Amino acid sequence: MEEKFCISKNLDLVSEKIHEAERNAGRKEGSVRLLAVSKFHPVDSVFAAASWGQTLFGENRVQEASGKFPEVFEKYPEVKLHIIGQLQTNKVKAAVKIADTIQSVDRLDLIKEIEKQASKINRVINIFFELHTGEESKSGFSSKEEIVDALNYIAEGNAPHVVPKGFMTMAPFTEDEALVRKSFVTLRTVRDELQSSFPQFDLSELSMGMSGDYEIAIEEGSTMVRVGTAIFGERQY
Ligand SMILES: *Cc1c(COP(=O)(O)O)cnc(C)c1O
Repeated sequence: MEEKFCISKNLDLVSEKIHEAERNAGRKEGSVRLLAVSKFHPVDSVFAAASWGQTLFGENRVQEASGKFPEVFEKYPEVKLHIIGQLQTNKVKAAVKIADTIQSVDRLDLIKEIEKQASKINRVINIFFELHTGEESKSGFSSKEEIVDALNYIAEGNAPHVVPKGFMTMAPFTEDEALVRKSFVTLRTVRDELQSSFPQFDLSELSMGMSGDYEIAIEEGSTMVRVGTAIFGERQY
């Protein structure tokens, strides 16, 4: 009960801060969505957030998500799950069963596997291209050119069950605000360039910003912040 109270208070607070950051940046209220990252937290925490009204959740590991989310979907059919952690090819089959969106797409082969598995169960999966923009994180496509190749592959009609929606990045873990901001600006610039090269897709989503840096991300154009700790507390690994 205590825990549930805490989670809804945190959600109130984070939502208020998001709105404040939208206002400060001169952006429309509601232009930034909140993805609640529940990795390493029990399903009861997910239920607490869902009963508050949270509908978007993120998990890093497919196995953990597969253990938690089926019962969440049963009680809250409006809930959507995004996979945000590095995804091995052999986990794609399980991922497309539970996830609406895969944000951590970092290679063309992964797109091919998502298409293969999603087509088998007649589902359409949204994807974000993860771009490596900071020194410390190792995940993501390492260049814009590789993403262009992937977009061309989809544009040629090779992956009808895969819908590109935008981009994701993790800023470096540093106190240096300029470095964090640079990483977000890089993602936004790549989004703008690729959106004009591929007008047939809506690539408007920019998933950037976590508990420690989401206000900066909103200033730089984030459309979705991925917040774990500030909602659910510290993770017990
Ligand atoms: C864990 C994680 C988050 C949330 O991090 P917090 O600092 O707890 O808000 C966001 N994005 C990704 C990719 C993550 O792995």
